[in-house]
Amino acid sequence: MRGKKPEWQRRIAKERIKILFELAEKEFRAHPERSKRYVQLARKIGLRYNIRFSKDLKKKFCKNCNSLLIPGLSSKVRIKNKILEVKCLNCNEVYRHPLKK
Ligand SMILES: [Zn+2]
Repeated sequence: MRGKKPEWQRRIAKERIKILFELAEKEFRAHPERSKRYVQLARKIGLRYNIRFSKDLKKKFCKNCNSLLIPGLSSKVRIKNKILEVKCLNCNEVYRHPLKK
């Protein structure tokens, strides 16, 4: 089947993404590689079902290496000129999020 996926399928896909992120967080400390695979899988599902990740969810992982970004553990966070800088300590990728207000 081509085109847009039925709504019920997307709903299940969203649920799976949520579960995968929960698993990724749970496994992060003990099994970082497994945790990355969960993030990778969640992203694949998102692509296949055309599901946009919320802003909060997007900030949770590194788009470069699929590692979860946990401040003080796998990421370094600092604020510079009203820009929130998040650095992935796994691959050194830096993400910048302008701070509003
Ligand atoms: Zn990274």
